[in-house]
Amino acid sequence: TLKGKTAVVTGSNSGIGLGVARELAKAGADVVLNSFTDTAEDHKLAADMSAEFGVTVRYIKADMSKPDECRALIEQAESCDILVNNAGIQFVKGIDEFPTEKWDAIIAINLSSAFHTTAAALPKMRAAGWGRIVNIASAHGLTASPFKSAYVAAKHGVVGLTKVTALETAQEPITCNAICPGYVLTPLVEAQIPDTMEKYNMSREDVIKNVMLERQPSKEFATVEELGGTAVFLCSDAAKQITGTTISVDGGWTAL
Ligand code: NAD
Repeated sequence: TLKGKTAVVTGSNSGIGLGVARELAKAGADVVLNSFTDTAEDHKLAADMSAEFGVTVRYIKADMSKPDECRALIEQAESCDILVNNAGIQFVKGIDEFPTEKWDAIIAINLSSAFHTTAAALPKMRAAGWGRIVNIASAHGLTASPFKSAYVAAKHGVVGLTKVTALETAQEPITCNAICPGYVLTPLVEAQIPDTMEKYNMSREDVIKNVMLERQPSKEFATVEELGGTAVFLCSDAAKQITGTTISVDGGWTAL
């Protein structure tokens, strides 16, 4: 049980971040939810999660594209025993046409934010005498696809940062690992299905199996609950000696 631990999950008002936050709350952790917005729904999400799992849940607005806000998120959280670096965006275009501002935004949100939050969280973990850092990388942290230069570079960078963080904390009760999801059925992915069905004149099933899951041998999406379960495992005592590595949750993608 993670009772008494506080987990900060970046980019957690939807998708994988929200799923991971829910599983950590279910395991007893207090949770800090985050995104760059500050709406009534964001705060309701926190209140509902708190009521559902009987833990303290707060929502803190911070834009992960801004170094100062990354660090301020951790300061405002007060405790940060578990840090899940999840915030991320995608943009798809050939390198010669890739807009510089998209490159910069993806590197900032998907990679640099994890450096800044980790830098701010390590002193708190050291003071508490325990810490777990879980970076949400991607199958694209281990392999590549065309037209995703910034995303693939950022996710490979996250895997590198994970290894360095693990080495710098190797003799302390702190671990750092990366989870590498394949295709996960998040609202973002779900929303692409109707358009793709129309574009290729395919059934929902064919779009999922032959377009989206072309590289995922299981031909099934991973779920946000499975990713949350993997994060909870990395926070468990059984995972004490697991550090500086990647866990793929990708239906066999990286075995191909
Ligand atoms: P999503 O769009 O549902 O979630 C992204 C989250 O990041 C949202 O909560 C969003 O509000 C937040 N976010 C975006 N920009 C931000 C910013 N500037 N500051 C703070 N928060 C910000 O997408 P998702 O699929 O849940 O992706 C979550 C993570 O998982 C990303 O790092 C993504 O690269 C990774 N991932 C997703 C998949 C997949 O198939 N869905 C596969 C591999 C890896």
